[in-house]
Amino acid sequence: MLQWAGLGSDAAQTMNPSTVGTSPSCMDDYDPASLLPEQATERIQSAVQPVSGFEKIHLRAALDRVLARDIHSRIDVPSHTNSAMDGYALHANTLPDDGTRDLEVVGTSWAGHVFPGPVAAGACVRIMTGAVMPEGTDTVVMQEHVEQTPGGIRIDARHKAGQNVRHAGEDIGAGDTVLRAGHRLIPADLGLLASVGTNEVKVTRRVRVAFFSTGDELRSIGDPLEPGMIYDSNRYTLYGMLTRLGVELIDLGVVADTREDTLRAFEQGAACADVLITSGGVSVGEADFVKEALEQLGQIDFWKVAMKPGRPLAFGKINDAYFFGLPGNPVSVMVTFYLFVQPALRTLQGERCTPPLLLDARCRSNLRKKPGRTEYQRGMLYRDADGQLAVDKTGPQGSGILTSMADANCFIVLPLEAETAEAGSLVQVLPFSEIV
Ligand code: AMP
Ligand code: MG
Repeated sequence: MLQWAGLGSDAAQTMNPSTVGTSPSCMDDYDPASLLPEQATERIQSAVQPVSGFEKIHLRAALDRVLARDIHSRIDVPSHTNSAMDGYALHANTLPDDGTRDLEVVGTSWAGHVFPGPVAAGACVRIMTGAVMPEGTDTVVMQEHVEQTPGGIRIDARHKAGQNVRHAGEDIGAGDTVLRAGHRLIPADLGLLASVGTNEVKVTRRVRVAFFSTGDELRSIGDPLEPGMIYDSNRYTLYGMLTRLGVELIDLGVVADTREDTLRAFEQGAACADVLITSGGVSVGEADFVKEALEQLGQIDFWKVAMKPGRPLAFGKINDAYFFGLPGNPVSVMVTFYLFVQPALRTLQGERCTPPLLLDARCRSNLRKKPGRTEYQRGMLYRDADGQLAVDKTGPQGSGILTSMADANCFIVLPLEAETAEAGSLVQVLPFSEIV
């Protein structure tokens, strides 16, 4: 199971909600019902099942898609034993033990043009990188190590039997498993599959994700901004994060803060998608209808997660669709998406994931936090003048301050019970390159 939210901070700790936030210094935030981030991850991951269904697509269309079946090679790669160098192919018995030896050059083996051998002992063949080793040869002397003579070449005694030769099947043998089901294809895989002659692959079908923003205060870009209104940015960050995952998007726009509109949007989203994601309206204020709508239409798990940003989070199901109700604050949307929604979408797509790599870095800022919650502050990771990994926070860390995300290249993961991270101390960072 994928386990990464809060990893490296408190992952090893027994996950007992009653242990969360018991410090007297944070009684204002203490909520015994809060889940640890890793508990929320575990609950989500144990609830989601990979979608069934796959499609057969051309190799070039398969980048970033998830393999639905193992892929085996029908051929050896390389398919023939060949030269790793431009030089001269000969039999190892021809190599002198000491001194030098003159050899006749009886022909040339080009990449793609096989020399019709055999090559007798005492003779050699000019050979190019990638060309088939002619019959009777097993060793290549690189061209820089020979001396030209009127009748051929002169070699000395520095060479080893079998050198500079690439053997048939040394990369992949016929029948080997090249890639496994559940693997998301990267550019190297496209080359790998091409090298075994595979031009079509079976990949899992795209997961369909519908999403909408809630809030009477939200305006679309292009519209005038009346007093008290803000532009809807969450749908754009969601669009970006979802696009990176290769899912099919259904943008349901902005939904007003009314019971009727929220219910209608829920029904619409759940009917057309595998996953419905909302932002905002998930607290328990008077204009927050997400929880109520979910209770009315589906099964709800509503959580406070002991983390910042991103405390309120709803997860549940409406008929067959999974539901994620993310908080409204722009940074909270991104943090909760990366920690909870993204791993779930990967699982739904049939991907086998490895947890992201956390790094230790020297903190260059004084970081304040409250104990009783894991904090995901935004940072810039770099190498300092001594070549050591260092991290600075990216300005004010309020959950509405999206520039803290835009300027960042990592999360600084501050563990549950920590109160501060002083400048100079070691902290754990989660580079965005590991998750986005
Ligand atoms: P809510 O969770 O709905 O109470 O929203 C929390 C905060 O996030 C409020 O300040 C909202 O105005 C803001 N917010 C909610 N949705 C969006 C959005 N789509 N784009 C930008 N800010 C938002
Ligand atoms: Mg709202």
